[in-house]
Amino acid sequence: MTIDDAPREALRGNPRELLRWVATGAAVSRADLSRLSGLSPSTVSQRVEALINQGLLEEAGAGQSRGGRRPRQLAVPTGGAVVGAIDLGAHHARIGTLDLSGRVVQGRTLPVRIEDGPETVLGTLLAEVTALASGGATAASGGAPGASLASGGAAAGALRGIGIGIPGPVQHSTGRIVSPSRMPGWNGFDVAAFCADRVDVPVIVDNDANLMALGAHRTAHAEMDHAVYIKAGTGIGSGVISSGQLHRGAQGSAGDISHCRVVADPAPLCSCGNAGCLEAVASGAALVTALREQGVPVSDLTGVLRLIDDGDRHATALARQAGRAIGEILAVVVNFFNPQVVAIGGRLADCEPLLASMRATLYERCLPLATQTLLIERVATSQDIGITGAAHLVIDHVVSAHP
Ligand SMILES: [Zn+2]
Repeated sequence: MTIDDAPREALRGNPRELLRWVATGAAVSRADLSRLSGLSPSTVSQRVEALINQGLLEEAGAGQSRGGRRPRQLAVPTGGAVVGAIDLGAHHARIGTLDLSGRVVQGRTLPVRIEDGPETVLGTLLAEVTALASGGATAASGGAPGASLASGGAAAGALRGIGIGIPGPVQHSTGRIVSPSRMPGWNGFDVAAFCADRVDVPVIVDNDANLMALGAHRTAHAEMDHAVYIKAGTGIGSGVISSGQLHRGAQGSAGDISHCRVVADPAPLCSCGNAGCLEAVASGAALVTALREQGVPVSDLTGVLRLIDDGDRHATALARQAGRAIGEILAVVVNFFNPQVVAIGGRLADCEPLLASMRATLYERCLPLATQTLLIERVATSQDIGITGAAHLVIDHVVSAHP
C-alpha cells in the first residue's frame, strides 16, 4: 500500500461499504465480504451482526455448500423498511420511497409552486411522502400516473428517514437554507427543524446538486473514488465525490460553482448582485433571458431546447457559449481536484452543442495528466436520480449512526 492509498484503505469494509456490496450483489456471504474488504472474518461477522440487528441486512436461506456447514446468505431486506425522498425543483417535485439498497419502490412527480413558500410546499410534500411510505395515497396524489406500488407496498411505521434536496444552498450542519437565488421567501428557513416537528424519523437536507452527485455516483461510478457532477438546468451547480464520499466542505457549500466569475463582455447581471457569474451566462434561466433580449419569444428552458433542436442559430450560439463557460470553470476544478470522471446532468445535459464546447474547452484548458484518463460523460437520464441520492443520504446516516 502506498501512502496515497491510505485514506481509501481506512474506509474499506466500513458498514456502509459492506451494505453496498450486498445490495449490489457483489457479496452474498460473510466470506465474500471478508474477501472484498480484506477484513478478518471475525471483524466482518461483528459488523454484519450489527447491521442485522439494525434491520439493514437479513439472512436469507442457505448459500451454496462447499462441503461442511452451509454458509448463510445475506440480503438487503426489501419487504418492510423504506426511506422517503423529496427532490424539490422550481416547478415540480419528485417524491418517492426507496428500499435500503437505494432501489425505488414508488415514485411520483407533483407540481410545485416554490413561491408559495416553505411551509406550504414542504408541508404538502412531507404529507405526500409519509402517505406513500404507509402504503396509502392522499387525495392530491391518489391514482396519479407514474405511481407504482411494490408487491405488498410498504408497511406503516417502516419509514427509516427522509432525504430532501433543495434547489439552493443548504448549510449542512443545521439544514438551513442560505440566500437561495430563485426561492423567494425561503432564505434562512430551517428545513430540518420544520420537518422534525412533523415527522419522527431522521430528516437529512442537502442541495439538489449534491443529491444528483450522490445518486449518480452510487448507481454508475461506485468504484470511482474521485468524481465531479455538474447539474445544469434552470440553475447550475455541482457536487463533488472525494475518496468515495460526498465532499461538503466546512459549511456545505463545496462544489457551488454557480457564482464563479466567467469572462463575458458585456457581463450580464447575476441574481446574486454580481456580474458575469457562471449562472448568469450558462444556466437555463440565463439562456432564456439572453434569447428574450435578442427578441426571440421564448418563455422557458423547454422552449430554448426546442429552438436548439431545430437548429436556431441564436439559441445554438448561446448554448455553445454556455458550454465554453462551464468548461472554463470545470477546467480549474479538474486541474485542482484531478477527478476520474466529470459527468453532467440536468436538462442542459441533453444539449449537444453545449456538451461539445464544454468537452473541447476542458481538453484545451486542462493539464494533459489531468485529462489523460478522465471520463467526460452525461449522467444517465433518470427522473429518479435525485431521489436515489436523497435515499442514500439517509441510508448513509442510518448506517453511520450505528457503527
Ligand atoms: Zn452570481
